[in-house]
Amino acid sequence: MVNFTWHFKPLKCIGFCLILRLRLGGVWVKQLFLDIQQLITLEAAAKKQGRQIREEDLSVISDGAFLVSEEGRILWTGARKEALKNYSGPDFKMVSLGAQTVLPAFLECHTHSLFAGERFEEFELRLTGVSYEEISRRGGGIQSTVNATRQASSEELKKLLQKRIQNFRKQGVGVVEVKSGYGLSLKEELRLLEVIRSLKDPLVVPTFLGPHSASPETPNLDEYMEDLIRKGLPEVSKRSLAHRVDIFIEKGFFTLEQAERYFKAATDMGFQVAAHVEQLSRQGGADLARKFKALSVDHCVNLSDEDIQELSNSSTTSVLLPSADLYLNVDYPPARKLIDQGARVALSTDFNPGSSPSQSLELCSLLARLKMKMTLPEIFSAWTVGAAFALGLEKDRGNLEVGKFADFQVWDKPWSSFFYNFEEIHPRDLYLSGKSVAIS
Ligand SMILES: [Zn+2]
Repeated sequence: MVNFTWHFKPLKCIGFCLILRLRLGGVWVKQLFLDIQQLITLEAAAKKQGRQIREEDLSVISDGAFLVSEEGRILWTGARKEALKNYSGPDFKMVSLGAQTVLPAFLECHTHSLFAGERFEEFELRLTGVSYEEISRRGGGIQSTVNATRQASSEELKKLLQKRIQNFRKQGVGVVEVKSGYGLSLKEELRLLEVIRSLKDPLVVPTFLGPHSASPETPNLDEYMEDLIRKGLPEVSKRSLAHRVDIFIEKGFFTLEQAERYFKAATDMGFQVAAHVEQLSRQGGADLARKFKALSVDHCVNLSDEDIQELSNSSTTSVLLPSADLYLNVDYPPARKLIDQGARVALSTDFNPGSSPSQSLELCSLLARLKMKMTLPEIFSAWTVGAAFALGLEKDRGNLEVGKFADFQVWDKPWSSFFYNFEEIHPRDLYLSGKSVAIS
């Protein structure tokens, strides 16, 4: 009896470990990634919490290497020579990347990727001078996207979303945030969040954006907000469909007073908050959201000097979305003032069918350089450290340092050549948690 127990225990342990290891995707040993001309860890940028980034904050390691655990976390970073001295032998799998540059994977922290239908016809109308009100009257605008999205089956929506996520991944993006917001009734908004969940992709972050616009069934914004607070938020929480909420604060959309009620209810229920603020006019949304410790305030085109000062001293990240400003032909956010005063900024495409029908990180980054005078190191930090903070993921992701997940992209060009030619950008390889992901 004693002997049986003695033999059985190790067997049970071996079986358990086997299952555990297989679950982790068949990575059996620690991986040592090496042969990297420039390993960009952004370690100093992360230490500075993404604020006032200089070139040295990229923390470039020449002829770099890094060690990744079976669970996909970074155990060590440094020079190749050092690595070979300390980490060779049967416990380590050498992976020669033969790369010019290795960067942290980008994070896309603000997208409306879940919709059906396109809006190219109204784009032409808008360019020929037809007003947004007139376009809405003719059945265009957000309402046309809501109609198309409601008519699409969950399976169709899932396929569209998968394709768009893959388009981001092809550009070196790991984490992708996806908002609801084209359902605009409780039932439809919840269905959209269920579609996001059905992807079963741990790097897709869902955000509840019930208050995106008026609901067709409840056109009174106060009543719709009441519904969202009394029924929507509790249901999202109960079903664990999202742990983040967002709102569109703008003239003709949701007011400051409605936003305050929403933030109060949401934070009481433990949701993280983000908000679309000061895009077309200054409503005071950035100030309000900051007071509720919002993870991010997004757009930020019409900030006052006081707003900039307050944001610079806060933990809230300013997410800048210049592709939307290009499409709407409006001003660009005051990136220089924000950065120079110490605010943390992130960049995002704001991908949506109306005001930013582009998934291009290249376009967004070129605008950041040309129109917002951001430097390349600031742009790299904005897509990585800044975006990780905007999503509350900064402890696990956003740069390549010990303890964080090994989410990285492999390039055959130097970092200084990024966001220069206007062309689609594609890394050679993308790894998430130390595992190669198909991106071609
Ligand atoms: Zn948006």
